[in-house]
Amino acid sequence: MNEFDVKNTEHSAPAVPYKKFVKQMSKWYSTGELPELASQDLRFVLELQKQKLRSLGLDMKCELKKKGSDRINSGDTSYSDRVFKNTFISGNAGMTRNVVSTQDQLTKYTDDIDLMVIIQELNDGTQPGDDMPLCCPHCGAPSTLGELQAGCKHCGTHFLMSELYPKVMNYFTFENHDIKQTKIKNKHDLTTLIIASIIPMIIICILFNLFAGQAQNTIANVIFGLFGGILGGAMVGGILFVFKKLFESLRLMGKQLRGIGHLVSTLLNADKIKQNDPEFSSEYFRDKITSLFRMAVYSKDATVLSCCKCRCPKEAAEIIEARLHNFSIISCQIKDMICDVNLILYLDCLHCRDGKIKIKSDKYRMRMRKQIKTPTGLGFSFSAVSCPSCGASFDARNVKACPYCNNEYLHEEHDWIITDLKRI
Ligand SMILES: [Zn+2]
Ligand SMILES: [Zn+2]
Repeated sequence: MNEFDVKNTEHSAPAVPYKKFVKQMSKWYSTGELPELASQDLRFVLELQKQKLRSLGLDMKCELKKKGSDRINSGDTSYSDRVFKNTFISGNAGMTRNVVSTQDQLTKYTDDIDLMVIIQELNDGTQPGDDMPLCCPHCGAPSTLGELQAGCKHCGTHFLMSELYPKVMNYFTFENHDIKQTKIKNKHDLTTLIIASIIPMIIICILFNLFAGQAQNTIANVIFGLFGGILGGAMVGGILFVFKKLFESLRLMGKQLRGIGHLVSTLLNADKIKQNDPEFSSEYFRDKITSLFRMAVYSKDATVLSCCKCRCPKEAAEIIEARLHNFSIISCQIKDMICDVNLILYLDCLHCRDGKIKIKSDKYRMRMRKQIKTPTGLGFSFSAVSCPSCGASFDARNVKACPYCNNEYLHEEHDWIITDLKRI
């Protein structure tokens, strides 16, 4: 059952759910068929994103692209709780993403992305209880593990444990830095800069030679000017190219290092939370922050979500795809087992402004809260929760009370919520 062991980077097993999911994502963007492997909460995020794209008059299409070998680069990152293990897996399957306007066809944005996913499976030898709340993968109705194995109350589908896991909990996209493409771009840049430098240099050198040249006749002065211009222009073009590359590398380095200044504070604060909740981890938190930010930003009105207690800043209205690059935990207060965290998120987002799509670096301040007396549960899904008062399973995405016993349902008692979100 340990077929997803992250140490087995050359093992073919992780390739199966990963590739299946990449195909399902392509299908989702082309036909609107929800990825079967995606967890219910991830499906919810995807649906919210589709609604947002539609409201902006956009459509996103993804095409699966095979890239050389079938090797799967499962990172060494995995985290687990008592029952589940979540593993980051990325592979060589790339995607070409197109964003087009559904109205006037003017907007067209294409980029090559790599996909990284978090796959959830059961820990070796563990078996969750029959009363664990779980959504029916077929009809989406909130249910429990036991009920789904006996046959979903709503659609009657029976499930085996092997059909419920592994599941994809989240996905991340990365810009694909193709070496071949970079070489082509470098060649193009160098040629453009040399030509752009040679032309004015030739003019300058010829003019200089005509007025102050050493040669006896005009033709000789023009020829000397021409050669001098070509040589000087090539040199200037080459120097400009080196400076351009240097500037680009420094900018990229600055982009990559975002958040590094708060590293110590992040580690100390993460440790503080971990002391109260041993199953907390930075990797888990990264996944959680990404999901919550996406839900809040893709939602038409974030305040209707039970996991969000604030409005979304108006600048977020133009975000159509959000990727978390890094996060810093600036401060963390724990009082009466309520944990309030103050974070800075460093993101790379696809924006749609005035009908144009652009990738931008964003910085957001986010405050989050959770009652940490309930330990982190990787299997938690707010699409299927169990009522603490009457035990019934219900969908808690947009409700503030149990629909069966009417008792108030406080989301922060079970999972992290957003209490404030601002662009900085
Ligand atoms: Zn069902
Ligand atoms: Zn209830």
